[in-house]
Amino acid sequence: MNSKIALVTGANRGIGREVCSQLAKAGHQVILTSRDEEKGKKVVEELKSDLISYHPLDVTDDDSVAQLQSYIETNYGRLDILVNNAGINYDTWQNAEQADLQSVQKTLNTNLLGPWRVSQAFIPLMRKNGYGRIVNVSSGAGALNGMGGGTPAYSVSKASLNVLTIKLAADLQNTGILVNSVGPGWVRTDMGGKEAPRDVTEGAEGVVWAATLPDDGPTGGFFRDGKLIEW
Ligand code: NAP
Repeated sequence: MNSKIALVTGANRGIGREVCSQLAKAGHQVILTSRDEEKGKKVVEELKSDLISYHPLDVTDDDSVAQLQSYIETNYGRLDILVNNAGINYDTWQNAEQADLQSVQKTLNTNLLGPWRVSQAFIPLMRKNGYGRIVNVSSGAGALNGMGGGTPAYSVSKASLNVLTIKLAADLQNTGILVNSVGPGWVRTDMGGKEAPRDVTEGAEGVVWAATLPDDGPTGGFFRDGKLIEW
């Protein structure tokens, strides 16, 4: 089995936690990260896998990203898989006309600049090794096709994240690094709520699929359950 080194952001609960579990079960070494150290370490204990280790990461904090980059470069010398999962603010309570722009800014900083910041930190290591899989965990709420009103901060952040996917994939053509957006569907998590039809297992599977694509796999696409969906 071809074991990879994987990093998952925002992994102390929800889809990120489950992605870590599935990647480890597939035999990959996983660095589970969270902004709250205590919560993240507790999850690592719960998952009971020798393949999962912990490191703190706040995707909005340059120093935190730099510390993790240096830790991974020193201890592993490479990073094969980056899952940009951390996300916030499904803002059903506001519309674009009246949205609180501070909350929009905060949302963009986590949901767009977070993945951008972390990708910039790790792409050089991936380039050095000629291999990488970057998965931006996006959302149907970010699809331009049929987009209406509602969830303005969140939708703008995820539509922008999809643009980042396209840009990075184009920049990284023929480097061995594949970059894709994945929508997990509507999943029962703190963000998705109790009414969501999918459990975390289903939500995480499509993310793990994109994280473990073969060398001739797609890049610059938007997928759900391993199938292309419209931007
Ligand atoms: P969740 O249960 O709310 O988990 C979000 C995770 O992101 C938490 O671990 C949270 O950590 C972390 N996070 C937030 N800000 C962070 C930061 N600055 N640095 C590092 N971690 C941070 O949500 P989820 O449903 O699992 O969502 C995971 C991803 O799927 C998100 O990108 C979300 O937009 C996307 N998604 C979810 C659904 C759904 O139906 N659930 C649908 C479409 C897309 P704390 O515990 O510290 O807050």
